[in-house]
Amino acid sequence: GCGMCVKKCPFDAIDIINLPTDLAKETTHRYGSNSFKLHRLPMPRPGQVLGLVGANGTGKSTALKILSGKLKPNLGNFTSPPDWEDIIKYFRGSELQNYFTKVLQDDLITFTKPQWVDLMPKRVNGVVGELLKTMCGVDNLEYIINELDLGNLLTRQVTDLSGGELQRFAIAAISVRYADVYMFDEPSSYLDVKQRLNAARVIRSVIKDNNYVIAVEHDLSVLDYLSDFICMLYGKPSAYGVVTMPYSVREGINVFLAGKIPTENMRFRDEALTFRMVEQIEDQEIERNCNYSYPSMTKTLGDFKLTVQQGSFTDSQIVVLLGENGTGKTTLISMLAGKQKPDQGDDVDMPQLNVSYKPQMIAPKFKGTVRMLLLKKIQSMFMHPQFQTDVVKPMNIDSIIDNEVQKLSGGELQRVALVLALGQPADVYLIDEPSAYLDSEQRIIAAKVIKRFIMHTRKTAFIVEHDFIMATYLADCVIVMDGTPGINAVANTPQSLLSGMNKFLKMLNITFRRDPTNYRPRVNKLDSVRDKEQKADGSYFFLE
Ligand code: ADP
Ligand code: ADP
Ligand code: MG
Ligand code: MG
Repeated sequence: GCGMCVKKCPFDAIDIINLPTDLAKETTHRYGSNSFKLHRLPMPRPGQVLGLVGANGTGKSTALKILSGKLKPNLGNFTSPPDWEDIIKYFRGSELQNYFTKVLQDDLITFTKPQWVDLMPKRVNGVVGELLKTMCGVDNLEYIINELDLGNLLTRQVTDLSGGELQRFAIAAISVRYADVYMFDEPSSYLDVKQRLNAARVIRSVIKDNNYVIAVEHDLSVLDYLSDFICMLYGKPSAYGVVTMPYSVREGINVFLAGKIPTENMRFRDEALTFRMVEQIEDQEIERNCNYSYPSMTKTLGDFKLTVQQGSFTDSQIVVLLGENGTGKTTLISMLAGKQKPDQGDDVDMPQLNVSYKPQMIAPKFKGTVRMLLLKKIQSMFMHPQFQTDVVKPMNIDSIIDNEVQKLSGGELQRVALVLALGQPADVYLIDEPSAYLDSEQRIIAAKVIKRFIMHTRKTAFIVEHDFIMATYLADCVIVMDGTPGINAVANTPQSLLSGMNKFLKMLNITFRRDPTNYRPRVNKLDSVRDKEQKADGSYFFLE
């Protein structure tokens, strides 16, 4: 248990039962004594995309470094590391033997899209279009520029790109080159849903019969769309990670959501995540007492104009904002928060809402530890047992409580920011991109925490979210943003999850079905029988 609760806390940090006992014999790499250990290794297959999923700190990037030949695996022996001959002997009988033999003898060319695109401007200098032209080794430059929407960025300096623009440039910079092994470490960060799917298509476009493609991805819909097969990594973050056997995409993601690996009789999460309609039916029986509304209004920001259609919402309700980057989601949220005034000024009647706001960009100025910050900002909630059980424990704040706020990683900062936002007394919680920097495990936990908190406290949340699984899990209703990014956009009136998703997916020209096991949404392959049927029918979201 987590110590505080009498009952075992369902969100307690991964509690592994029945860890395979022979793991010591299966150590692929160990950074040093008392350092992280990686057990086993995923096996790429020629002509297919291998998807990797797992918690932060379980060795995904380490596995990529080993498979790219840049990190020589020491098989756990960091004092006198084995030479390649021994390493290949160790992998005898597995596909990895063949793979590493090729890496060594044929000098396979490998390229990796790094996880941290923010660091790229420090290493890459120049103009986007010229860089891509010099890198290009296969005849796909035009296709890549088109698909990743880089056309209007070609004359820009890499140093002037935003996070999402850097990500698209980084994916392009790998995909236009000739390689035997392509690796993409977390390609969807900073991208909206449309850009994520485009990036997935670009990654799939580099597959050839005899090359290898590997992607690490936390957005489970993107992982699903992108991969031909999947390996999961589980373990104790920063201590050790174990790679599972390869699974089919569907089975792999279902195993991940279920939180247990049947073949190894191993459980790594106490609760499964399902997306059943039943939850939504129960939801309709929730008693709702407050009705809020906001008026039609506009907001002009430089060259950009946002038109907001009037809308209303209630307590015990989560409204998810869906739309491309640059269509005014953050602007609408900050108008509701009273941080920006509409063009109409005081001529429109804005509701006087007591709001708590988690901004998209978190840049902490606070000097001190996480504990000091939480005590300063949300002391009474922080001390409240219910808030501890519902929010603080599951977000695993205990493990970072004495760390300095300034030194937290992106994912740690996001967890603290979420706790801070939910800890402020308010009627309406405005939460901009909660899944950024979180791994799939933490996204599942964060989604559950937010949902439970809003329902228990009978409050309202407006949430901007690009992770489709998280968005559909959270949403009671949605606001669809449409228009041209950066130019003009409309924030449509809030509508039901079903009709809103239909509208949104129609704009993206994709359809979804439900997985029969856990009802999770899955993207249909473009032009598959199902895709065509659903489009003809206007049922972009969940036919059945
Ligand atoms: P993931 O990509 O799954 O988040 P990583 O492979 O980046 O995980 O890291 C796994 C663990 O290995 C982390 O705890 C990290 O701190 C540690 N690690 C990574 N690189 C090194 C290194 N060069 N020396 C020591 N430890 C490292
Ligand atoms: P989203 O959150 O949907 O990505 P935003 O609300 O952040 O979109 O921004 C919408 C558009 O407004 C973007 O094109 C952005 O560049 C522009 N914008 C935002 N703030 C300003 C500002 N202060 N001045 C000029 N343009 C702005
Ligand atoms: Mg990583
Ligand atoms: Mg935004």
